[in-house]
Amino acid sequence: MKEVRLRFAPSPTGYVHIGGLRTALYNYLYARGQKGKFILRIEDTDRTRYVEGAIENLIRELKWAGIEIDEGISLDESGNIIDVGDCKPYIQSERVKQGIYDKYVDKLIEEGKAYYCFCTKERLDHIREAQKADGKVAKYDGFCRGVSLEEAKERIANGEEHVVRMKLPANKDISFDDAIKGRITINTDDMDDQVLIKSDGFPTYHFAVVVDDHEMGVTHVVRGDEWLPSTPKHVFLYEALGWEAPKYVHLPTVLNKSGKKLSKRNDDASVEDFRKKGYLPEGLINYLALVGWSPETNEEILSMDELIDQFSFERVSKSGGVFDSEKLDWVNAHYVKALEIPKLAKYIKPYMIEAGLIDEDFSNEKLELIAQTFQESIHKFSEIVEQSEFLFKDKIEIVEEDAIEMASGEQVPSLIEAFKEELSTVDEVDEEFAKTIMKKIQKKTGVKGKNLYMPVRAVLTGNVHGPELVNIIQILGKEGLENRLNQFHQGE
Ligand code: GLU
Repeated sequence: MKEVRLRFAPSPTGYVHIGGLRTALYNYLYARGQKGKFILRIEDTDRTRYVEGAIENLIRELKWAGIEIDEGISLDESGNIIDVGDCKPYIQSERVKQGIYDKYVDKLIEEGKAYYCFCTKERLDHIREAQKADGKVAKYDGFCRGVSLEEAKERIANGEEHVVRMKLPANKDISFDDAIKGRITINTDDMDDQVLIKSDGFPTYHFAVVVDDHEMGVTHVVRGDEWLPSTPKHVFLYEALGWEAPKYVHLPTVLNKSGKKLSKRNDDASVEDFRKKGYLPEGLINYLALVGWSPETNEEILSMDELIDQFSFERVSKSGGVFDSEKLDWVNAHYVKALEIPKLAKYIKPYMIEAGLIDEDFSNEKLELIAQTFQESIHKFSEIVEQSEFLFKDKIEIVEEDAIEMASGEQVPSLIEAFKEELSTVDEVDEEFAKTIMKKIQKKTGVKGKNLYMPVRAVLTGNVHGPELVNIIQILGKEGLENRLNQFHQGE
């Protein structure tokens, strides 16, 4: 049987859109599930969109996400871009240099399936305006179809600027089956003589994508449905070149909660945004797989291996998948909870440093205690800052009503007094102290249960609810506790 080969073929625009990552993921899952190959190719024939460092960034983001390539571009140990696989090079601009597209253009021209076009921008603008004014769809009027090959060659030899266009037959239906959208048919009368080679000599996306998918043996083209209108052009080219077209799978767009396409301006839309917020790749990937696809079982927590096992195009929804960041948080929290404490401590540290809560030399023991304390309540690493910052404040401000009420109870001064007395008997607050202090206060004051715990919590944290009090006491340490108890006692 023919090897299943899929490719992710982004243009290096400088960042990886979350919708792009989902496309890469679905390609990857299907390729792996079919024991096929996953290829990473770079489509950079639009030189005006080129961004320095974008390719390296892309490779790193995919790697971070756990999407491994079988063929395509990769980075060597020194961070240089390398080609891996038999179909190299995998960067289109490199393929242009090797003249890979030339032979196919020549063939199309020879066979009368493509032609040179010398129309100037002014002329093209002019016909477009006129068509618009007539209420027609703008398309090339075929003016240069009449130029003989001989004349064209002469004009080219004379240095005249030109492009190559495909020559569509009149009134011919072009059809293809899409795994998600079904059968699609479009008549060539509603299509344009697409430019294949631009005046700078570079192939257009439409031409390069067909040549490369063919040369790389791609069996399934899985991409965003914004490419659906382009597909008839590609199907025509496959036919013109005498090749078999791949299977097409056009994925519905990833939408935000307002039903609009996720955009960089209004949403977190790049993979980098999510990485920086402290999502785990496992969490992001798990959730992203579910945006527009669902497994047969109703499971929602799935590892990469389980996704590979269960993924199919039949279960990709026809309508756009809505990206719900609360759901992402919920999924990601699952992976945060599964982390070993030293790992979690390592992950949260940079966020706490950046927020100025701790510095590089902060005690690892305490950091791990913090990690353990908040493991159940954070969904992503960045949340550690807002959740733990009260531990690092000199003063606690009690704003919540319940907490104010608790902290102003009649018995509170005696609780605080008892706490302070116990504190003065030790040099350091250790685990033993933290574990026994409340019982000791209870013994001294006779106050117990809710009436004991809630006020103490309110005074120490500013809240009536929150993480384990024993941990809080230990993290605050002698000085932190003294500060809070004194402040409260003197203050109110
Ligand atoms: N180069 C296109 C992009 O930037 C990919 C389209 C395709 O997969 O054919 O999204």
